[in-house]
Amino acid sequence: MHTTGHGNRNRLSAQDRFADGAQYIAGRLTKGTSGRTHAVVDPATGDEVYRYELGGPDDVDAAVAAAREAFPAWAGATPAERSDAMHRFAAVLAERAEDFAQAESLQCGKPIKLSREFDVPGTVDNTAFFAGAARHLQGQSAGEYSGDHTSYVRREPIGVVGSIAPWNYPLQMAAWKVLPAIAAGNTIVLKPSELTPLTSLLFAQAATEAGIPDGVVNIVTGLGRDAGEHLVGHPDVAMTSFTGSTAVGKRVAEIATATVKRIHLELGGKAPFVVFDDADLEAAVHGAVAGALINTGQDCTAATRAYVQRPLYEAFVQGVADLMETVRLGDPFDASTDLGPLISHVQRDRVAGFVERARGYARVVTGGEAPGGALRNGAYYKPTLIADAPQDSEIVQSEIFGPVLAVLPFDSDDEGIRLANDIPYGLAASAWSRDVYRANRATREIKAGCVWVNDHIPIISEMPHGGYKASGFGKDMSSYSFDEYTQLKHVMFDNTAAARKDWHRTIFG
Ligand code: NAD
Repeated sequence: MHTTGHGNRNRLSAQDRFADGAQYIAGRLTKGTSGRTHAVVDPATGDEVYRYELGGPDDVDAAVAAAREAFPAWAGATPAERSDAMHRFAAVLAERAEDFAQAESLQCGKPIKLSREFDVPGTVDNTAFFAGAARHLQGQSAGEYSGDHTSYVRREPIGVVGSIAPWNYPLQMAAWKVLPAIAAGNTIVLKPSELTPLTSLLFAQAATEAGIPDGVVNIVTGLGRDAGEHLVGHPDVAMTSFTGSTAVGKRVAEIATATVKRIHLELGGKAPFVVFDDADLEAAVHGAVAGALINTGQDCTAATRAYVQRPLYEAFVQGVADLMETVRLGDPFDASTDLGPLISHVQRDRVAGFVERARGYARVVTGGEAPGGALRNGAYYKPTLIADAPQDSEIVQSEIFGPVLAVLPFDSDDEGIRLANDIPYGLAASAWSRDVYRANRATREIKAGCVWVNDHIPIISEMPHGGYKASGFGKDMSSYSFDEYTQLKHVMFDNTAAARKDWHRTIFG
């Protein structure tokens, strides 16, 4: 493992930029009224970079009122009008790409190359995709199913959407929530994580600059139990879309259900990475390291459990350990840094706790500690490989959300697939084999919302993302997400001019 020091830090002055506050309501920044403040902390150094007034229930009420007021005109705009505004939105984002990348890296500790190559271009592409998709919303064509009536389906927006997002990919999560909702004609109030509000605010400002009307996109930055729960329970919010942990998702579902709202839940994951004995070993080793360490392992689809068929097991363990030791930990703003810190010292200590407990029942092959030297003040943790843990152990079963990969051997194909499925989660998985029938079997039998073959992690705007089992339900991205953000109305016209229809006579004589 190499480390890079804290070099040319290009600090975005969040304090100046968001001096007016961290709430974005009806097209302008305001200060939260909860009476409490919160800090955005640079996890690479532990320095506070922005302190702001948290939003509370009153701010949620104001944002929901703004979204409600904006709804009729936005829902009534033609698809082409919404599409044009969203194309301009994509152009503004593309113009500001470097600005977004720096803000994202500052608040998350994400390596700048990841922000530049993945988070920001992904968001621009997603915006362009939904600008186009906004014009393809209509339902099926009309039909005369009873002979006497013509039926058709209208796909209508739902109203005000209340969304809650996590801190791991703040910009992309804001985009995934906002874009399909507004493309379909809804308006939205988004609550980002209190740890990472900066790029959600920049995103909403860019929407306004692109000509998306005030009140269509609103941001309330507050605590989950306060602003979050108030948003979920709000009577004027028609739908809750939540991305975060399974534990919080259950609570959100309870509150939303009590107010009879539509719910979309994108929850935790613990993705298996299944390597059959005919796999390309070098490709699998590289795929496992990239898949486990992306975003410092704080990725709901990250490879977290590698199951390797016995003949390749030892070579895989050695290959992954060797490669993990070449990963460059360092300053997120250094373009050569591969791995940044975790989101916070609290999260780092949580990850370290999992690894310390695992020492009692498994082998820590590499990593298992925080680096010292120039990185000692940051929330860093070394890439960690843990071998031979039992399937029912905590390190194999729990979502760790850190740069930690557990690796276990298996014998038969049946066993590999059974172990992959032996978990409450079902968000993503990968299968590695050169045999198309073996790989195809794995794609059908693994219970997850996404199964990659001979790769792990890539996503694209055109395809849906969402979980099975305890990973939630509903889809982000792609045109499939419109099934979440629209409601279907059956419209039925009588085709006969008779005052009394045949069926009236049948029933009433
Ligand atoms: P979290 O569940 O702690 O918080 C997520 C959001 O919920 C935050 O904005 C938080 O403020 C809010 N919140 C917390 N308590 C709340 C409450 N009682 N009511 C309403 N809102 C509340 O998750 P996190 O730690 O921010 O993010 C990590 C988790 O997110 C992981 O479990 C990860 O797997 C999951 N995640 C899932 C996906 C996916 O697509 N399935 C994507 C990214 C992250």
